[in-house]
Amino acid sequence: MFKTKEKQLEYVRDWRRRNKDKTRKYNKEVRPAKEKTRRKELKLEGIKLLGGKCSICGYNKNIAALDFHHIDKNKKEYEIAKLISYRSVTKFHKEVKKCILLCANCHRELHNSLN
Ligand SMILES: [Zn+2]
Ligand SMILES: [Zn+2]
Repeated sequence: MFKTKEKQLEYVRDWRRRNKDKTRKYNKEVRPAKEKTRRKELKLEGIKLLGGKCSICGYNKNIAALDFHHIDKNKKEYEIAKLISYRSVTKFHKEVKKCILLCANCHRELHNSLN
C-alpha cells in the first residue's frame, strides 16, 4: 500500500516536473489568449445588439474604438468594461440594453458637453 502510494506520488511529481514548462506556458500564454478572445467575442456581441456602429456618426471600423455609453446613468448598475473582463454574460446583456454605442470620439465629446 505504502509502496504504491509512494510510487503514485513519485509519478505525479515526475509528471509535474516534465510538464512544468507546458503548464507555465499554458498559464502565461494560452489561457490569457483564450480569455482575450472570449472578451472580444462578448464585446462584439454587445456591439451587434446595439446596431454595430456609433449612433452619432456611424463609425464602425474598429471595435476597439467603440464604447458603450449609458443613456441614463441613474440606471447604470455596472461598468460594461468590468462585466466584459469578468465575462458576466447575463449581467452584460442586461446592462448593454441600457446603453447606446458610441465611437471613442463621440463618446468623449458627449461626456465633455455633459459636464
Ligand atoms: Zn461617433
Ligand atoms: Zn459614456
